[in-house]
Amino acid sequence: MTERATESDLGNVFVSNYPPYSRWEPDQVPALHEVLGAAPGPEPPDLGLYLHIPFCRKRCKFCYFRVYTDKNSKEVERYLDGLAREIESYAAQPYLAGRPLHFVYFGGGTPSFISPKQLLGLVVRMKDAFSWSELDEVAFECEPGTLTEAKVHAIKDIGVTRLSLGLEHMNDAILRENGRAHTTKEIHRCMPWIRDAAFQQVNVDLIAGMLGETWDLWRDTVQQTIDLDPDSITVYQMELPYNTVYAKKILDGDDDAPLFASWQTRRDWHAYAFEEFAKAGFEPSSAYTVKKKGRGARFTYRDALWRGADMMATGVSSFGHLRGVHYQNTSSWDAYLETLERGSFPIDRALETSPKERLIRETILQLKLGHLDPSYFRDKFGVELTDEFGSAFSELERDRMATIHSDTIRLTQQGLLQVDSLLPAFYEPQNRGVAYV
Ligand code: SF4
Repeated sequence: MTERATESDLGNVFVSNYPPYSRWEPDQVPALHEVLGAAPGPEPPDLGLYLHIPFCRKRCKFCYFRVYTDKNSKEVERYLDGLAREIESYAAQPYLAGRPLHFVYFGGGTPSFISPKQLLGLVVRMKDAFSWSELDEVAFECEPGTLTEAKVHAIKDIGVTRLSLGLEHMNDAILRENGRAHTTKEIHRCMPWIRDAAFQQVNVDLIAGMLGETWDLWRDTVQQTIDLDPDSITVYQMELPYNTVYAKKILDGDDDAPLFASWQTRRDWHAYAFEEFAKAGFEPSSAYTVKKKGRGARFTYRDALWRGADMMATGVSSFGHLRGVHYQNTSSWDAYLETLERGSFPIDRALETSPKERLIRETILQLKLGHLDPSYFRDKFGVELTDEFGSAFSELERDRMATIHSDTIRLTQQGLLQVDSLLPAFYEPQNRGVAYV
């Protein structure tokens, strides 16, 4: 069931965008400035804002995000000032000025790392820059051990509607082994505060296949997660991206390179969790997330992004998309802050997408929901999906990964559990096998 991971196991399977990041280039950044400098026109897409809060108490051994574990409160405050300046600069651009926000996503890193006072100070400046009156969702990621009762209430008071708690697992030995900072005691300590605060929606995250995972431990984690009674549960399958502690051990050929469950076992654990969640009254809302029936749980950030919404990226290393132009901020702490303090945008690379690339992007991202609505693509792109991607869909049907009808395309359970590995079949030839970094 478990095997020693090798170099061939390394890399991301999870697909978060198209075309791959390695195609984004510094010489395309002017395309973004052109977008920012023009009026939005009569019916611009919904507008969102992503904030990257890159601080964590400790670095998880499987983490590949740009995070810092050594910043003092002065440095955190300088960073938050940079974030606010960045948002204020966006608000002054003709393409964005006066437009209301549709969704806000506080991601990380660990947004709940910052203090209530720091959070409030940031939000006051955010609300001065952009109207929150038409907001559909404010999502906020939390790490259990960083929460206090006062902080949970501060998070609620700023207007967060969807609190997402990173449980990852419900066994302390597994959490410790994988380098997580929090304990199960901290999970049980913060859940009553979260319930008392009455957020519109509480999501919890799990990871299937962490180092040391067994069937018994996973069954127990699934049951304990159900007992916490969240509104939605998101399950990711463990991956081994290159720039992680685990990957380094594997590449160094260490004798104690980690033992991981096979992809098939990770998929079996994922499938088991979804079956148990279904018995407990949850229904799938994507390949990764189930939601409790009757509670109206939704995920505006995901749905808007997967339908081509505009999203400003703020924070070091973060990714955005405005009127068809992808872009990413610099990954350097100093460059990020110094550029903002000079009054410029800290953007490192961009890509002006073609209509075909936008069609592929929405097709593969929406396929992660488990179904596609061909009429949406007819209306928006003027194409018949099954004509446009005939061979990719035939392959999926032949391999029993999907069922295809003129009014709906639906992944089977088998297809849903490995959706990310199916998506490259939709890519243009020059983007297949290209690194996603
Ligand atoms: S909490 Fe999340 S962002 Fe922070 S180190 Fe762990 S995986 Fe990375």
